[in-house]
Order: sequence, then structure tokens, then C-alpha cells
Amino acid sequence: MQGLMMNTPLLISSIAEHGAKYHGGREIVSVTADNPRHRYTYRECIGRARQLANALDKLGLEHGDRVATLAWNDYRHLEAYYGMSGAGYVCHTINPRLFPEQLVFIINHAEDRWIFTDVMFVPLLEAIADKISGVEGFVVMTDEAHMPETSLKNVVCYETLIAAESAEFTWPELDERTASALCYTSGTTGDPKGVLYDHRSTVLHAFAAVAPDTMNLSCHDSVLPVVPLFHVNAWGIPYSTFITGAKLVLPGPKMGDGEVLCELLDTEDVTLALGVPTVWLGLLQYAEKAGKRLDKLQRTIVGGAAVPRSMIEAFRDQHGVDLRQGWGMTETSPLGAANSTKAGMESLTPDERLDLATKAGRGLFGCEMRIVDDEGVELPWDGEAYGALQVRGPWVCSDYFKLEGGAGSHTDDGWFDTGDVATIDPGGYMAITDRTKDVIKSGGEWISSIELENAAMGHPAVAEAAVIGISHPKWTERPLLIVVKAEGQEVSKEELLAWYDGKVATWWIPNDVAFVEELPHTATGKIKKIELRKQFTDYQFPE
Ligand code: ADP
Repeated sequence: MQGLMMNTPLLISSIAEHGAKYHGGREIVSVTADNPRHRYTYRECIGRARQLANALDKLGLEHGDRVATLAWNDYRHLEAYYGMSGAGYVCHTINPRLFPEQLVFIINHAEDRWIFTDVMFVPLLEAIADKISGVEGFVVMTDEAHMPETSLKNVVCYETLIAAESAEFTWPELDERTASALCYTSGTTGDPKGVLYDHRSTVLHAFAAVAPDTMNLSCHDSVLPVVPLFHVNAWGIPYSTFITGAKLVLPGPKMGDGEVLCELLDTEDVTLALGVPTVWLGLLQYAEKAGKRLDKLQRTIVGGAAVPRSMIEAFRDQHGVDLRQGWGMTETSPLGAANSTKAGMESLTPDERLDLATKAGRGLFGCEMRIVDDEGVELPWDGEAYGALQVRGPWVCSDYFKLEGGAGSHTDDGWFDTGDVATIDPGGYMAITDRTKDVIKSGGEWISSIELENAAMGHPAVAEAAVIGISHPKWTERPLLIVVKAEGQEVSKEELLAWYDGKVATWWIPNDVAFVEELPHTATGKIKKIELRKQFTDYQFPE
């Protein structure tokens, strides 16, 4: 017997209308290339998204067609999110920091029909224009006064495009499984792969994101996503804010600017900020140098890469900010786990709390997890056994766009293999030990590069650390610690290696330390291990 409840589709347009109706006056503040502080409201945002939807319909697009964005976090990009997906098109967010060849691959593979771009990325598009001939036109996301000279064909000014349209639009009643957005993984191995989100997955993910033990988001919050809208939909923030009515603060091209971020945190009363560890490393350094305390900020969600214990400590002790770790990936929309304490943990000592906070977190309801060994046999949740992390749920990808099983990423029984190696403790707290391809195999045993990096980051003279495996005649591989020294600090190789005593097993201690001026980062701010391995291909351990 079927239940008797309404089969109302879960649609992104319903999030838009809910936000505009219940929180219409809530503010959205943006830094844009043409305005240091643009301010307007949810209501205006959705009105303009409807204008855009009208304009898109007139471009002769079919539902399901991909329309790309190449832009920073600001209000126009947000309008594009709602206008495109809501009207039935697929909003394909592109990471502008990719290599030109990757951009060409992604745009052609996605068959993008139009590209919406920030002014500053116009030269990037001009350089590849002859290789993306399938693209019919470009919308530059600015006003007439700031339109650039360009050799691109069929170029339209965003403000002019939408000014001609009505703010009335009837959103189509789509099937909730209709594709809504497309995001390519960074493709550190092989070509980038497209993850195609749908309306249902997006709405369910947004529900899970706002929950108290995930982001604990409400209309009383002011949220600063320092994670780009092209990095897995800024972790769903455009949707979770509109569900709750939280104020939204968008840093535009100033993502990496400690001064602007600190100012936004303060003047816009930001209570929750989100970003990858590298971003916070820069911000914490800036705050320390400038003698600033992040007084208003209550909590940060940090994920996308391992979070060093020293960072959690710095937020807590220097700024009174609660750092909550999250885990996820492009394929999981991205939130799969979040770290918050459980009932019964009130008596944990500050040190025990720190230990717990270094873990990635508990699987959210909606994202099941398991760890398996090489034969696919499930491993116990004892916090010791480590294996391949597999997940499944309604916001986990079931395949890649136009790849039909070709990635070999899914098991026969329907789980997605994340490519991460993890432990899960009896309380359900999952900790990432490594990405499968970064794990260091020493004499048949595994060494976690993440744990070695975290321990090194705790040394006051270390600004940033990475550990890679270097081939070794006897042990197959041994760890090499690569360090960027903190400004004005000195430390020797011997001191750093001695620092590991008592922190990790003796046989884990790296064989050597290399000092570098800076580490290579991916477009989303993660340490680029592939690049590091290339830099150190000829490296040999001292005799
Ligand atoms: P990319 O493949 O481009 O790095 P993602 O942004 O999807 O794309 O990255 C997902 C990966 O980031 C995960 O598979 C995992 O290795 C890493 N990651 C995410 N969160 C954490 C975390 N809390 N701790 C350690 N690693 C993490």
C-alpha cells in the first residue's frame, strides 16, 4: 500500500522562492571587481534570477543544456545559480584556475552552449576561443560601464541582458531528478570527470547541511563562504542559506586577501565562515601579524583537506572560535561527514576534545559509510583498522557524466569508492589517513602522510608541511618531509625530526627534511602532491 502524502518535487526553484518569501529582506553583501561592497536582499536576488531565467529561455536553449560560469563568489554568480538551474538548465561551474587545456577539455566535454564570465577571465577565454567553437556566446557579468574590449564573438553584457526582462517568471515543474548543476573533479589523475547533480540531491543535501550537528545554520547567522562557488557549489551554501534565511557575505575576487576577509568578518558580523585549511592558514597568519582577534566569528567549517591540530588550537585559543571539521568531495555534493561532539562527551578534557576534532567526523544521515580491505571485506569500526572508504546515499554520484561506468569507481553492490583511506572509531567518527595514491608504503606497511604533516604543522617554526613517499631500495618507499618555514623562524632538520619523538611510531619518522620557499597548491587550495612528487623525482635520501 502506498502512503497518501503529496509527491511534491524537491526543486531548487522552491528554495529560491522560500528564501525570497520568508527572508526577502535578508541581506546579501558582495565584493565584486566593480564594487567593493554591493548590498541587496534575497528578494532582489531572486527577482533578478527570474529576469535571467526569462533571458535564458530566449537564447533558444533546451532544458538540460549546459550553461557555464567562470566567476568568483558574488551576487551575479548567485543569481546565475538560481536562474539557470531553476529554469531547467544545467549550471556548469568552471574552476578558472585550471590549465587552459583542462578548460578546453571540460567546456567541450560538457558541451557548454553559453559561458557566463567575470571580466577578469575574458582573456582566459580569448586564449582558448578557437578550441571551444561549440560555445555560442559569452555573457560578461558586469554592467555596460565595465565591459571590456574583447575579441570574443557574440558577447553580451549581463546587466543589459537581464534589464530587458521581467522579474515575473513561472519556474517549470521539473521532475526532481532533473540535472541541475555540473562540476568537474580536478582530475589529478587522467581527464577531469563530471559530477552531475540533480534538484533532489541538492535539496536533500541542503537539508542535511543546516542540521545542528552539521553546520547548525539558522536565520540568525551571517555566513562567509571562503570556498568558491566553483568548488562543489561552495559546499551547498547558496542553498542552505536560502533555506534558513542566513545573511550571505560573498568575498568575490578577494578570497585570498587576509585583510579584506578580516574586515568582512568584523563589519558584516559573520558568525560562520567556511573554507579549506590553506585559506585559514593565510587568515590566521594575517590576524596574528595585524594583532586582530576574530571576535564575532563563532565557528568555522573546515574541510577539503586534513585539518592540522595546531589550526584547531589556534582558532580556539587565540580567537575563541569553534572549528568544526567536515569531509566531502565533488562526488558527494560535497558533505558526507561532519565533526561535532556527542551526548556524553561533556566531560572530555580540552586535549581529548582536540584529538576528537582532528577527525573528519561522523557520517551524516543520508551518506552511509563503510571501510573495506583490498578484497572488499568490511573492516571493523575500532578506530584502528584502515581501509578504502566507500559511501552511498541520495547525494552521492551514481556515475560520471558521459563516462558510463568507465571510471570503475563504483562497486557491484552500489557503493562509491572515494579513493580515500580511513579509519572509523566505535562512535562512528571517521578519520582520513590518506588518499589512496598518497599513502606511503614502507616495508609492506602503510604510513599516513596526513598524520606526519599534522604533527609537523604543530612545530612553531613550520608554516606549512607536506610529506611524500620517496622510493627506497630496502623499504620500497620512505617519507620525506617538505617544509615551508614560518616567517622569521629558523629550525634545523635534526630539530624537526626530533619533534616527532613520542608523536608517531619510530618507524614512521621521515628519513629526511627538505626546506622550500613555497608548496604547490591546487586550484582549490590543496597541496598538489603530484607536482611535489615531480619536483622531487630525482631526490635521493642521504646515505
Ligand atoms: P579534488 O579531487 O579536486 O581534490 P574534491 O574537492 O572533491 O576534489 O576533494 C575531495 C578529497 O579531499 C577527498 O577525497 C579527501 O581526500 C580530501 N578531503 C576532504 N575533506 C577532508 C578532510 N576533512 N580530511 C582529509 N581529507 C579531506
